[in-house]
Amino acid sequence: MNSRLTYILCSLGGIFVGLSFLGGLWMLLALVGLLAFVFAYIYNSSRDSSDAPIPSVIQRSGDTSSFKMARITTKTALVTTLAPEHVQEEPLIGYKQEELWRKVDQELSQSLGNELTILLRLIPNIHTAAYFLLRSKENVFIPLKVVGAGASKINGQARIGAQSSSLLSRLLKVNETQILEGDLTSGKALQIYKEDVPVKSVFAIPITNQKKVRCGFLMIDSLQLNAFNNLSPDVLPFAAGIMQLLSTKIYAAAYNYIQQEQYAVLYEYQQKFFDSMSVKDVYRHIGEYIENYVPFDRMMLLARDLQDEDKGKVVVAKGEDSDFFKDMEFSLNDKGVLVYALNRSMPIERLLKNDKGDFTIRFNAEERRNDSLHYLCATSSTSDIPIANFTIALEKKNPTAYSEHDKIRLRTIARTASFALERVVQFEKGKDLAMRDGLTGLMNHRTMHEKLNIEKMRAERQKINIGLLMMDIDKFKSINDTYGHPAGDEIIKGIAKTIVAEVRSEIDIVARYGGEEFVVALIDTSEAGLKETAERIRLAIEKASFDIKQKLPLKVTVSIGAYLKRPDGRYSMAESLKFADSALYKAKEGGRNQVVEYLETEPEKGVILEEAHQ
Ligand code: GH3
Ligand code: MG
Ligand code: MG
Repeated sequence: MNSRLTYILCSLGGIFVGLSFLGGLWMLLALVGLLAFVFAYIYNSSRDSSDAPIPSVIQRSGDTSSFKMARITTKTALVTTLAPEHVQEEPLIGYKQEELWRKVDQELSQSLGNELTILLRLIPNIHTAAYFLLRSKENVFIPLKVVGAGASKINGQARIGAQSSSLLSRLLKVNETQILEGDLTSGKALQIYKEDVPVKSVFAIPITNQKKVRCGFLMIDSLQLNAFNNLSPDVLPFAAGIMQLLSTKIYAAAYNYIQQEQYAVLYEYQQKFFDSMSVKDVYRHIGEYIENYVPFDRMMLLARDLQDEDKGKVVVAKGEDSDFFKDMEFSLNDKGVLVYALNRSMPIERLLKNDKGDFTIRFNAEERRNDSLHYLCATSSTSDIPIANFTIALEKKNPTAYSEHDKIRLRTIARTASFALERVVQFEKGKDLAMRDGLTGLMNHRTMHEKLNIEKMRAERQKINIGLLMMDIDKFKSINDTYGHPAGDEIIKGIAKTIVAEVRSEIDIVARYGGEEFVVALIDTSEAGLKETAERIRLAIEKASFDIKQKLPLKVTVSIGAYLKRPDGRYSMAESLKFADSALYKAKEGGRNQVVEYLETEPEKGVILEEAHQ
């Protein structure tokens, strides 16, 4: 009957613990489960404590370090965890989620505190109960929570080397639940006390992870000798297991939350990339994402010059020396490790030699050197060609690697940005082709009309004039006839260049209107300005020589019709162009190589401004 009650309690405990695996509020059942086990234990030990196996008691022999360890069981199953090992790792410094991790630690500390307190209350004679976790990076156990002895006595900074020969670590060498007993007058040997505490019994329960690797332990101690003799070896491992489950679950929940958040952000950036309309936008989004969501001490985005295959530029730089590297141009023939990564589209992840005498060059000998950065992770764009369009270079002072999760996110960003970049480049090329004239690179007829209409609206609003010039090459047919069509094309190109050189590049509009006809719109000009510019262009063409692979360079002239469109809303742009065209007709009639302005007062006549100087 009695054993049946123990059995029922244990079964209930098992069911509750099992249910707590569901996570969320179900985890609270872990506590109920723990209580069921503890009650089962108390009930069991009060029933027949005389039958309990009495472990061998170890006598003191010399100093504490010479204590032998007594195994009380080799049968107890090791407590295992369900979460992957990295869940136990400290969050990386520099994450925006530091705040979240702090909360996680607080929550965990509170829950562990509650459970340790239950042990303290229910198991007689416990002086201190402590839960240690292995910090894998440093290979030391740290006390995550200690209850019992007053806070003033506890050394919260205790670090128990997993490989050291200290009393506790020796106790932990064997993956089995163990009891250590004797007159441990020097409680300091346990390392969690700041002062001597006369500890006489220690019970340590190892906790291992899924891979059966030690990741922590639960320790209780007592000031009484043989304090834990009656303790069933099955109970504490279960308690430790529940605590381990709790800490794993809380860490895993936080970790999953962060991962979910990060994937949500990644998705948001994927959208941003696909909405990007320019190469600059793509680079800006990469920089923004890395800056906000990946830890680094220096970040650089290296971009290959899409026009010049030998050049590259640092288009984004953040962190250490960013003022030096931002916008820095470099040659793809440079031998630095980052140039190599870009040239070969190679992922690079390694420790860097950064001592003064032995420095890993990033670009070339001229760069600013920084000895404090020791770790490099470079991720490049993906494409069909072996040379990358961009490389994301992250450097850290702390020589620890990025987590797999970070690296997956970096690769995803690089891949998505690569697609977006290729699409944007195609788009920009297509847009350019549609807007520009293939021979001269000038704006084409259709785009010119769109632009002129926009300029007209702006000019009407701002009450400024637009000066229109319509020009046509003189006697061009004969040039074609004499030298051939390709030579004629060269002349058209040369004249386009000459016109562009005579106007304000960002303000005025130059378009190829037709075969050998050009239109120039001078934004915000005066009557005098219009005449002056028209005459300057005419003269520049007259003076220019065009090399068409003949013995002598060729000379050509243009005739120009000019019209000053005032902001009075009287004529459309198309009408205004017609006025300029009729002035051009007059210029041709008047003998060519001259500028004629269309005057509204004498629309039929037009006035010859300048006679050609033959
Ligand atoms: P003018 O204007 O002085 O009256 O005499 P023109 O000989 O220049 O006469 P017009 O402007 O009517 O002739 C235009 C010629 O320009 C006709 C065509 O063969 C030539 N042309 C038009 N587009 C191109 C082009 O893209 N390349 C070349 N090589 N020739 C072109
Ligand atoms: Mg013509
Ligand atoms: Mg002509």
